[in-house]
Formats: sequence, C-alpha cells, structure tokens
Amino acid sequence: MKTDAFALRHIGPEESDLQQMLKTIGVDSIEQLIYETLPDDIRLKAPLNLDPEMTEYEYLKHITLLGNKNKMFKTYIGLGYNQAIVPAVIQRNVFENPGWYTAYTPYQAEIAQGRLEAILNFQTMVIELSGMEIANASLLDEGTAAAEAMALLFDVRTREQKKANVCKFFVSEEILPQTLSVLQTRSTPIGVELIIGNHEEFDFSEEFYGAILQYPGKFGQVNDYTNFIAKAAENNIKVAVAADILSLAKLTPPGEMGAAVVLGTTQRFGIPLGYGGPHAAYFATKDEYKRSMPGRIIGVTVDTNGNRALRMALQTREQHIKRDKATSNICTAQVLLSVMASMYAVYHGPRGLRYIANKVHASAVTLTNTLAKLGFEQTNTAFFDTIVIKADTKKIREIAEANEVNFFYPNENSVSISLNETIGFADLNKVVSIFAAAKGLATITIDTLSETNHFPESLVRTSTFLQHEVFNKYHSETALMRYIKMLERKDLALNHSMISLGSCTMKLNAAAEMLPLSAPSWNSIHPFAPLDQAQGYQEMLAKLEEYLNEITGFAATTLQPNSGAQGEYAGLMVIQAYHQSRGDHHRNIALIPASAHGTNPASAAMAGMKVVVTKTLENGNIDVEDLREKAILHKENLSCVMITYPSTHGVYESAIKEITQIIHDNGGQVYMDGANMNAQVGLTNPATIGADVCHLNLHKTFAIPHGGGGPGVGPICVAPQLAPFLPTNPVVPTGGESAISAISAAPWGSALVCLISYGYIRMLGAEGLKSATEHAILNANYIKEKLSGHYDTLYSGEMGRAAHEMILECRPFKQKGIEVTDIAKRLMDYGFHAPTVSFPVAGTLMIEPTESENLEELDRFCEAMISIRKEIEAASIEDKNNVLKNSPHTLAMLTTENWDFPYSREQAAFPLDYIAENKFWPSVRRADDAFGDRNLVCSCAPIEAYMES
Ligand SMILES: *Cc1c(COP(=O)(O)O)cnc(C)c1O
Repeated sequence: MKTDAFALRHIGPEESDLQQMLKTIGVDSIEQLIYETLPDDIRLKAPLNLDPEMTEYEYLKHITLLGNKNKMFKTYIGLGYNQAIVPAVIQRNVFENPGWYTAYTPYQAEIAQGRLEAILNFQTMVIELSGMEIANASLLDEGTAAAEAMALLFDVRTREQKKANVCKFFVSEEILPQTLSVLQTRSTPIGVELIIGNHEEFDFSEEFYGAILQYPGKFGQVNDYTNFIAKAAENNIKVAVAADILSLAKLTPPGEMGAAVVLGTTQRFGIPLGYGGPHAAYFATKDEYKRSMPGRIIGVTVDTNGNRALRMALQTREQHIKRDKATSNICTAQVLLSVMASMYAVYHGPRGLRYIANKVHASAVTLTNTLAKLGFEQTNTAFFDTIVIKADTKKIREIAEANEVNFFYPNENSVSISLNETIGFADLNKVVSIFAAAKGLATITIDTLSETNHFPESLVRTSTFLQHEVFNKYHSETALMRYIKMLERKDLALNHSMISLGSCTMKLNAAAEMLPLSAPSWNSIHPFAPLDQAQGYQEMLAKLEEYLNEITGFAATTLQPNSGAQGEYAGLMVIQAYHQSRGDHHRNIALIPASAHGTNPASAAMAGMKVVVTKTLENGNIDVEDLREKAILHKENLSCVMITYPSTHGVYESAIKEITQIIHDNGGQVYMDGANMNAQVGLTNPATIGADVCHLNLHKTFAIPHGGGGPGVGPICVAPQLAPFLPTNPVVPTGGESAISAISAAPWGSALVCLISYGYIRMLGAEGLKSATEHAILNANYIKEKLSGHYDTLYSGEMGRAAHEMILECRPFKQKGIEVTDIAKRLMDYGFHAPTVSFPVAGTLMIEPTESENLEELDRFCEAMISIRKEIEAASIEDKNNVLKNSPHTLAMLTTENWDFPYSREQAAFPLDYIAENKFWPSVRRADDAFGDRNLVCSCAPIEAYMES
C-alpha cells in the first residue's frame, strides 16, 4: 500500500474499520452497498479520465512551479481591485487558521459567537465609513452588490411609482465596466430598464425610480454628489453609490450626501487580489429598507439569562422561507473575507486607516505634480488615489511592461494609474522614470510627499468613525493575536469535531490544498492583468474546467459564479439565452419540486421565470405523474425543471431518466442542482441522468472550506447546446461565442480558491474521487444503521439504503415537548454541531457525515445521538425544566453557587465519557431570536453606551 497516497489522508475510515462498518450495514463489500444504493442504469461504465493522482509533496512542488508562471508585476490597474497589505497577524491567525476557515454559517449561534462578533465589527465598520444606518454581513462582490442595490430600490419604489410601473434606473457612465455588465445581466429579467449617461446631464424630470453613481469614478474622478442626490430626492429618485471604502476615511461619505444605498468591495482592507477573488462586498442602507436588504444581517439579542448574545437577524426575509418572493437568492456570502477585513480595521483603527488613506492620496498628488514637471497633463480635476495622464499609451506600455509595471489604458492617449497602500518612494520613482523615458527626458526623483489635498474642501470628511473601543484597543500584535484567539475559542469548527450538515458537505479542507493560497505568486495577481502574466492561473483554471467537464459529463464550464445560488442564476440565464436564440422568447416557466432548496425558486424569480411547484410523493420522491401533467400543461411556455440529484431527501430516485425525458419531450431544459454531487462523483454524472446544466458547490463537494459562511464557488457545467452562452467579462473576455453578460465582477470569479478544488482533484485522481464518494455513502449508511431503533430515517432507496445523507424523524418527540431545536442545542453539550435543521422537511434533522470522518468520530456522534434519545424518552411535556430544554449549558451555569436544576451538573455538561477529554463550552445560553428581531441592533453599541456604564 502506498501510505503517502492523499486518499488515505482525505478519507476517514481505515481499512481495518471497514469490515465492522460493512457488517453493521449488512453488506459484504462496498461494491454491494453501492449496487444496493445507486440505480444500475445510471452507473458510469468507465473510470473518470483525469490526470494521475499526486502525493501532497508532489502536488506542492507542482503548484509552486505552476505559480512561477504568474508574473508579479507592480500593478496600478485599479478598477475596483487594489493591492493590499495583508497584516501577517491576520494572515496567520485567520486566513491560515482552520479554527476560522472550517467553520459553518453561524446558524447555531451559541457556538458561533466569535465569528458573529467579527461580522458585527464588519457591519459597524461599514455603517460608520459609509455614513449609513444599517449594513449586512457581506455580499459576493461589488458588481452583484450594485445589482442588489438596483433591485432593492426597485422593491421600495413609492406606491405611485409601482402603480405606474416606473422601471428606469440611471447608471452613471463612471461606473466600473464589470459592474455595468452585471447590472445589464440582472436588470432585464426583473423588468428594469437601464439608462447609461453622464450624471451632470441627467434630466430629473423624467420618470426614474433610482440611480447608481461611482465614487470616485472608474478612472478616479471625484465628484460631489450632494446636489444630484438632493435633486433626485425631490423627484422620488433614490440613489445608490458604489464607493471605494478606503477613500471614505478621507472623503465625505455618501451617507452624508443622502444616498439610499452605499456599496462596494472591502478587498483593499487586507484581502489578497487572488486574480479576482474571493473578496467581501459591503452593502449599507437606511433602516427603513432593512426588510428589503439582501444577504445576512447579524444582530444583537439576549440569551436565556438575559446576557448579550449575537445571531443572524430577520431570517424570515431569506429564501429558505420566502422562496420565490425572497428579497434575493444570497445564501453563501463572503464571511471569512469580511472577518479579515474587519480585523484589518480593528488592527489599524481609525488613525491607521486615516494614515493609509492619506499616504495613498499624497502619493497620487505627488506623482501628478512630478509628472507635470515632465510636461504630462493629468485630467482628473479631483481625485483620491487614481490619476489619468495624457500620453502615448503604446510607448508608455512598452516601457512599463519592460519594467514589470502595469497601468490601465482607457484609450490610445490616456494612462490610468491607481495607487494603493503598498506604494513607496522606489515605486513612485520607477513610475516617474517610465514617463521620463517615454519623452527621452532625465527623470526626477521624489523624496517627499505633498500634503495638499487634490479635491474640494467640501468633500473633506469631517465626521469621526470607528470610535468604538474594539477599533481602538488591539493595535499591538500580541493584543490582536489574543483577540482573534478569544473569538476563535467561542466557535466550534471542523478542527474540533464532525459537522454533519446535510446538503452542505463539510468535508476535510486539507492543509496541502490550502497552503498555495498564501503564495504571492498566486494571491497577488490582478484580475485584469494581461493574460501573458497569468499563465499559471490560465493553465490551472483551464485544467479545472476540463476536470469538471469530465466529472459532470458535460461540454463546458464557467467558474465565474461566486456561490451555488449565483450558479443557479447563471444556469437559468444561459437556458433563457438558449431558448431565445431559437426564437422561443416566451418560454419562462420553471417547474420546481416542493422539496427544492430555497435558492432554486429565488434564483428562478430573479431570472424572470414563473415558478410552478410540483408535488412530492409520500416516500419523498418527485411525483412523476404530477410533473408530467404540469410539463404537458405548460408545454408551450416550459423553460426548464430544477431538480436536485440525489434528491434533497438523500435518495437516488430511480425515475430520474424518465423525469428528464418528460422535460425534454416538452421543450424544456433540465437544470440539476449539484449540491449533492458528493454522492455522484465517479459513480454517475449529471449528463448521464439527462441534465443539460448543473452548478457545483466547490465549497461543498470540492473541498473549499465554508469559511463561516463563505467564500464559495458555484461553477456551472453545461451540455454542448448551452456552451455558446456561458458568461463573459467586459474587460477580459471569457465564456462562449454568444456569451451572456457578466454574472460576477471578475472574469473567473473567485480564482484564488479554485486552487483548492484543483488540488483536491489532482491529489485524489480518478480512483480517489470515486473512493471518496463510496466512503461518503458508506459513512451515511453506517450512521443510518447505528441509529436505527433509536431514530427513524424518513426516506431511503428501493433497497433500503441512504445516499450520502439521511433525514431523521424528530416530529414525534413533540409529544414529550421536545422540538428539533432542542436536539440541536443539546448536541452542543456533547461537543457537536447540529446536522441540518428542518431542511428539506420541517421538524427533522438531515445528517451528512462525508467521507472524511473516521469510525471513531462516527461512533462518538452516534453515541451522543442515542444518549440524547434516552433523554428525550425521560422528558415530559408537563415539565419543561429538563436537560434538553435548558441546553446548551455554559461553564458559568455549571459553576454557579446554587445548582437548582432537577439533574446533576455532570449530566448537564459531561453526559458521556469522551466529552471530558475535549470539552467544548458554548459561550452563551440559548439566543432569543424573537427578542432580537423586535429590537434590531446590527452594530457594536455606540461609544456613549460604554461611557454611561
Ligand atoms: C448549498 C445549497 C445551495 C446554495 O448554495 P450557496 O453556495 O449557499 O449559494 C443550493 N441548493 C442546495 C441543495 C444546497 O445544498
């Protein structure tokens, strides 16, 4: 046996455990288990055709060599992406720390107070810098955040505007090109008409519902928008402003100018460029629009004892509940990146941020003045960090690239130069020397920076920001390191125990997959760098696309979408473009089974489709007859079906081929939600079951960590007829020949983290990938058998097997007064994160152990579940003072003088032997959701609150 094979590290069960596991399940071999699980007519006949697997050592050598093909030029391209300095203390303690990056979305608030606090800091930072009232916990990128603003303002139109269907939205021509492209994609399906123009020539008397402006503009011009926003308000036009977050430390924030929404990226707050992402977008608005706000919001509430506790607020707005009426389809966001950006603000504090902004501005002013001495004209009348120089671009470009410098060239005679916090005198002097050389002049040396602002006095920020103590006390490395650790200790992540979240596939995020993300050759490349400087990336991304094509059986892939939900939207838009290319403009009906994930109907609504819900049978399967009836009924207008396979019930439905045939027979396309791809890789694929397009969640199946709620990557893979329509990018063209406009801001989405999935596939190889799938099924069926007799499994296949996940029935426990939430909270006392609660069936738990967990951990989890089952048995509906209802139990509770619960301290906190060795203490008691929503607070308490107390 090759003991250095990566598969042995990734896959949990040991060879020696196998016999016992198979025996428990009641099969002789894994082959027999798979035979009893997966319908025969969809099994792949041949192994996947992938490159041979590598050991971790071989892979790290390979990826270093490949990284060397990326050229690390000094880059002043800007356009929404700026080189930032990642503070080493944040890189080491957050970015490279599994305690942070392997955490799940903080649905279980009591064991997530650390990242909830970090995100609350993020929201506070955004609120104060933008001058707004409320902010969310991050969006996917600036382009999609702008689209969300367009949609929010559409949603909050006045009654008269709604009645008259006022649907015009003004877009300043100074908007970033990639943002414009995303706005184009997103506007048409929801019935918004974009009008692009110069904001100074805008006619306020026309019927518009909203507008979006860029601050500073795409090439750096800074405008005072106060008058525009005021005049717009007089005409009921609400204004969104996309703003550079660093500039807001120096410039009057749009909130103070009356903006209704302020949005942008926080990338330059210490996040690597990563060839386009992942980065956290920010989104802030007025309190009155909070119910229309997209994405997650963290809010303050109290726990059972009345102590402060944080949790996700206003969840009833989200797609899980609102389905096709949801305010947006955002599920996975950019939590890890928002945590890093918030820590950057915590570390630098208001003084540090002002210093950085001043330095960047002073460098730009000094460069302008120096180039003027060489006879170069600068055309921005006011700027923050970006200047535009009149010059022969061909000549400048040649000299610049020979000196390993990138500028941006808007046209033949202007050069746009965006400065950032990495700028030093040597860099400035190199820039000057390039321009001097172009004119054949002797260069001038800069050795001091100008102190004069190059923007009007009226735009100088006078208000204070980040006065709260959290931004003013962790400025030494020791202090910040301990603050990060203090928060980390409150959170349960994969480095503590199994997180068996059905549908979310919390598998190993191997260190060897993660290491290359820290290499400058990978993380410092600008997304709009010339392609010949990104050859390492181009090769890696092309290979990854090729592997995903092979794994799905499809013809082409785009890596652009930054989450599964964005993948759904991209897939539906591609289907629509296909229908339209055939003159079928009327096809707009999406059939979606009742059991679908909430993002499915929400994405269909955003794509302008009409959702028709199809029935689910008693046994959890799609009701084929109902589906057939509806497909035939809507034959003329059928666009597609959205199905999850294996189903969200954890079953490989044997009628799948019949289902996909029915859709095709009626002129529709088949969209497969690939969240459950972990049960398919190497055994079957979407093309084989008859799908035309699927998204994959690289942050589930392909080992990208969840990061506490993001980043994600949701590529879509498509059949040949859909390939021409894959999305492009306006700056670096990508996608098919008849490409739709952009889905995300960056040409290859979150390219940096695609490295993780690339490494996962390269190190496992075809055999390893298949083995991973088989072990995922093995582990799930093992748990199912171990728990049988204690819990009923809701659905199983025709031969009684689960796929890679299963649903446990918990509704009968109501007779004992026990809700599924009580089980979820009680699991914390046993050191476990709850499985998925109440999806896809309310009152149940969905367990997905993944292949990465070994027998010991599976047994510990089962032991906990069985022990809880006994506690349920002992509970009674009359007496709510029991160990389940009072869970989770904190250390503070356990060590109080008076213990007056009807059970022992030991039973509360150490109900099983294994717990003592590795006890995890929830830091708060149960968080009160209703209280928090009634008294919504989404930022750190103002400084006055501290001064009073
Ligand atoms: C996770 C998931 C999604 C959404 O993916 P995000 O990356 O969170 O947007 C969609 N469908 C199913 C079945 C999922 O499990």
